[in-house]
Amino acid sequence: MDETVDEAFIRRAVEACDLAALRVALYQATGDAELAGFGPVVALDPADQARLKERAVHLLATRSGRFERRVPSDDELRELMDLVLGVPTRDEHFEVRRKFLAFTPYPFQFERPPGAAPVPEGFEVAIIGAGPAGIAMAVQLGRLGIPYTLYDRRDEIGGTWSIHKYPDIRVDTLSITYEFSFDDEYPWSEYFARGEEVRRYLELMADKYGVREHVRLEHDLEDARFDEESSTWHLRFQGPKGERVGRDANVVVSAAGVFAKTKRPDIPGVDEFEGTILHPTQWTDDIDVRGKRVAVFGNGSTGVQLLAPVAREAAHVSVFQRTPQWIAPRPNYGRAVEPEVRWLFDNLPGYWNWCRYTSIINLMTWHEDYLIPDPEWEKQGGYITQKSEQLRDFMVDYIKEQIGDRPDLLEKLVPDYAPMVRRPVVDNGWYQALTRDNVDLVTAGVERITKKGIETADGKHHEVDLIVFATGFEVDQFLWPATYHGEQGLNLREYWGERSPRAYLSMMVPHFPNFFMLYGPNSQPVSGGVSLPSWFQIYAAYIAQCLHAMFEGGHAKVAVDEDAFEAHNADLDAVASELAFLKDTRSVDRNYYVGADRRLVVNTPYETAELYAMMKEPKLDELEFGS
Ligand code: NAP
Repeated sequence: MDETVDEAFIRRAVEACDLAALRVALYQATGDAELAGFGPVVALDPADQARLKERAVHLLATRSGRFERRVPSDDELRELMDLVLGVPTRDEHFEVRRKFLAFTPYPFQFERPPGAAPVPEGFEVAIIGAGPAGIAMAVQLGRLGIPYTLYDRRDEIGGTWSIHKYPDIRVDTLSITYEFSFDDEYPWSEYFARGEEVRRYLELMADKYGVREHVRLEHDLEDARFDEESSTWHLRFQGPKGERVGRDANVVVSAAGVFAKTKRPDIPGVDEFEGTILHPTQWTDDIDVRGKRVAVFGNGSTGVQLLAPVAREAAHVSVFQRTPQWIAPRPNYGRAVEPEVRWLFDNLPGYWNWCRYTSIINLMTWHEDYLIPDPEWEKQGGYITQKSEQLRDFMVDYIKEQIGDRPDLLEKLVPDYAPMVRRPVVDNGWYQALTRDNVDLVTAGVERITKKGIETADGKHHEVDLIVFATGFEVDQFLWPATYHGEQGLNLREYWGERSPRAYLSMMVPHFPNFFMLYGPNSQPVSGGVSLPSWFQIYAAYIAQCLHAMFEGGHAKVAVDEDAFEAHNADLDAVASELAFLKDTRSVDRNYYVGADRRLVVNTPYETAELYAMMKEPKLDELEFGS
């Protein structure tokens, strides 16, 4: 053992680590019966926790350096999973949870069987968007030897992590869940990595998996047309110098993301303002708020993330809040990964895997805990579910604690709708920032923007130099700004028409052969916040299987059957209609998961295992193949 790793070091590691993950990883490594004797870590009383920690210190001090890295058998895995929660893992959950654990290489990827039909000569896939989704698709295709080109409108890889450079930007789910499961553990510097580190990680993946040589940056897709004669797509890009660039591809996979088109409030007078107006997507390093009077609109994930650092520097900040949000703390947010915990990652095989597991596991019961209203509970006068109300109470206490001696703020800050029905927002010192002398929370309606500031319905005028519109995105403008034309020139937006956008399994649309979306309508799993990159790999593997079926059958095109598309969406809408996303009438009109027609449009209504079962392989009888 390294000399610097003495018992005191190990004790610090055990104190700082994820104890549930440590316990199960150590049990996996040692088979120590005493470790198995404890109940789930979350339910341990302090005395048992202390005993468990002592045992862990002892085992690490005496046995580390002798642990072997190995893949547990399925039986062993079940026993280990059961230890974490203290209840048996249901069969339908086992497969997807095992894959999230990522003990085997490339857990979600599709491998073509030996003797598979060759990829046709000249076949090529165009992937649009070089963010996490596009890279996941590229790695999958690269592994199968399917030629592809990855286009992006920006001048660097990274997608949303290239666009967003506002203060304090970071992931708000644990960094380890933001990793691709096909790669080895990555040494994140913080538990919740900063945006630039995530972007660099994506660059690294692009290099390591041979993606970069396939990337064409500064290619902004304007138009895509399916040519029925040749079963290919003609793509028109705006190139690096503003010139038109034409490219053809057999298949198009859009990984364009939903946060591409910014939403700006349409407030009278906005064009008269003499100061600066910014959406956070326009934030660059040279923006200096020191000494400025700033207005921040929006308290979603973006507005909440940037308020505290802006308030620390600005002369004054007025926060314009339209609707209160549930803004929750996250353990270890903003904290560097300690060297002691890094040592655990490096020296205890399985610790990384089980940390991923413990961070996703709670979300596996998210549906029943917060989204499916419990009729018994509601009959007793409760709202949604008991857990939902318990969470509400916890959150109200948290707000009170954060605002301390400013109880006047409380009434303005507690939402009337249930927690978890809108996108959870993670606190980055937002509530505390509101208590600063140089910050005001403004809840009066905004009437107009003047040359010098903002006028509110209570007759006040708020003078500002800079307005930050952290007002979100036009999330239902999927694929924006490109237009897609399918069979007989059918325009995709016209096909969607007045209805909100929809797709088959979030990926395919009838009459648009050889076209797939990775962040399409209803693609965002509730557990997506847990590991969106894992879901992109699952979707990419589905697409790869469709291509494989094309090659095997000697087909030049594949599309979804229109009846299957309608049936899927009817089922999806029926499932969604039972969820709190739509049933919570207090938030439904201000929930970006929900479209203007009150249909769930961004999120999937299916729970994790159910969704995985639908996505893991295509139902070929619901697809139409042709030449
Ligand atoms: P958002 O969640 O849609 O929030 C927009 C905010 O702007 C809301 O507070 C909204 O108020 C307000 N707003 C919109 N139009 C307004 C108007 N006309 N007047 C006044 N206020 C208005 O947008 P976002 O914060 O940019 O976040 C979008 C998504 O990006 C997040 O949900 C998350 O998925 C992702 N994101 C992730 C991270 C991360 O992981 N670190 C960070 C940032 C963003 P109402 O509530 O009244 O509509």
